[in-house]
Amino acid sequence: MADPKGFLTTPRQDWPRRPVEERVRDWNEVYVPGALLPIISKQADRCMDCGVPFCHEACPLGNLIPEWNDLVSREDWRAAAERLHATNNFPEFTGRLCPAPCEAGCVLAINQPAVTIKNVECAIADRAWEEGFAPPAPPERLTGRTVAVIGSGPTGLAAAQQLTRAGHTVAVYERDDRIGGLMRYGIPEFKMEKRHLERRIEQMRAEGTKFRTSVTVGRDVDAAELRARYDAMVIATGATAWRELPVPGRELAGIHQAMEYLPLANRVCEGDLESSPLSAAGRHVVIVGGGDTGADCLGTAVREGAASVTQLDIYARPGTERDDDAEPWPTYPKLYRLSAAHEEARDLRTAPAADADARLFAASTLRFTGDADGHVRSLHLVEVDAGRRPVPGTGRALPADLVLLALGFSGPDRGDGLIDRLGLALEPRGTIARDAGFATGVPGVFAAGDAARGQSLIVWAIAEGRAVAAAVDRHLSGGTTRLPAPIGPYDRPMTV
Ligand SMILES: Cc1cc2nc3c(=O)[nH]c(=O)nc-3n(C[C@H](O)[C@H](O)[C@H](O)COP(=O)(O)OP(=O)(O)OC[C@H]3O[C@@H](n4cnc5c(N)ncnc54)[C@H](O)[C@@H]3O)c2cc1C
Ligand code: SF4
Repeated sequence: MADPKGFLTTPRQDWPRRPVEERVRDWNEVYVPGALLPIISKQADRCMDCGVPFCHEACPLGNLIPEWNDLVSREDWRAAAERLHATNNFPEFTGRLCPAPCEAGCVLAINQPAVTIKNVECAIADRAWEEGFAPPAPPERLTGRTVAVIGSGPTGLAAAQQLTRAGHTVAVYERDDRIGGLMRYGIPEFKMEKRHLERRIEQMRAEGTKFRTSVTVGRDVDAAELRARYDAMVIATGATAWRELPVPGRELAGIHQAMEYLPLANRVCEGDLESSPLSAAGRHVVIVGGGDTGADCLGTAVREGAASVTQLDIYARPGTERDDDAEPWPTYPKLYRLSAAHEEARDLRTAPAADADARLFAASTLRFTGDADGHVRSLHLVEVDAGRRPVPGTGRALPADLVLLALGFSGPDRGDGLIDRLGLALEPRGTIARDAGFATGVPGVFAAGDAARGQSLIVWAIAEGRAVAAAVDRHLSGGTTRLPAPIGPYDRPMTV
């Protein structure tokens, strides 16, 4: 804390976004390049260096936030990068993608805008790459033990990096043709440019991690045989089984799952496709589902040149201020938040039927109707009350010739046979069962990330990857480990 009065004298300033009209014409990140560094040391100076840092507690990784805020306020970037990487393998991912529960837990947030913790994290991570403070860290000695990690999302990557650095020989198996999990083909380029992912993968390769892409374990290789070839196995296959919307007309052409739509747009950015076969260009788009996946569809459809885009949310519109009785500080409150995609939709007025930013709240889909060719043309909805009961007289239809379902995910995909072939037990809600040490009932097989926790966040996935690596290292090393475990398998976010 270079300036003990920083929080009194400096107002919060976020990393500015590029003008809407400019950014919707490309796929680059929405922020103004180079605009963060000049403001960030003053912002870090707003940190009060609290005796009990609740921000640190609210971050699943246990990021040492007050420590690196102090170092950034003093412009000691090398030490800040060291402190940040002590708890987070991939801070440039969380610095861009995390919803920042730490900021909800910031003590300043009790009666003032929180410290811009996520921005500080991103600035340190980017500076670390620019200055060469994040070199590959290969192990000094190899243990001779081998680990197969199945799945290359943030969980698998964090687990693989920790285990490689601990001296184990690690191979990551990925069914897609590129590494990255949902960060590769789910999350759009405008939220995180893929060059950040490539740089980390190169770092991991240089450390000794092996990557095997286009291999579906369970289908292309036998899961039990693979298990026998390695000393341990980590299942980090994500929760990619999507939820359905079983209403009349669902079978019409033009109705797709978000994760059928988003990967194609990402492939256009990767240069694999000239244009997306499901492009929203010139079409009336309705997105069913009010979460982040829906917002990613919204931003993508706007960039593709949709004629209109509306997003339906079954929940009532939340308030803009924390309800101190229902969701007291330092929990992460449900608030009306304006993502970059919503800001674009609001400014461009993409949804004639919605009052502000393309979202229709408390809206439930009743059915779809189509044309003589069997293509969807309308979505019929009704307003619902807090108990999801239809409000009489509120039914209406929206024009819709592309409908995107963004209703969340129920658990890991079972179509590849991996779970059944290994004989893994499942929890009643469909996730992979594991004990307090991340171990499944099958000797030497561990489970982590969305596959075991259920649909979650990047920050939890990285924390899961670090924690499962500690468990695997302990298993391989006869009961001891020096690797950190930031969370246990039953830890949950600070919400009410
Ligand atoms: C569209 C979208 C946007 C999101 N945006 C955000 C965001 O902005 N911020 C945030 O914090 N979180 C976000 N999330 C959530 C976040 O992406 C996930 O919580 C996180 O990626 C989970 O990490 P994971 O490693 O457990 O699984 P995943 O990222 O799903 O990775 C699992 C990997 O395993 C592979 N795999 C599966 N089965 C096999 C097999 N049999 N053999 C080989 N490989 C296999 C899959 O192909 C995949 O690459 C978003 C999710 C979605 C869907
Ligand atoms: S990872 Fe997320 S919760 Fe943790 S410090 Fe960064 S923004 Fe905050």
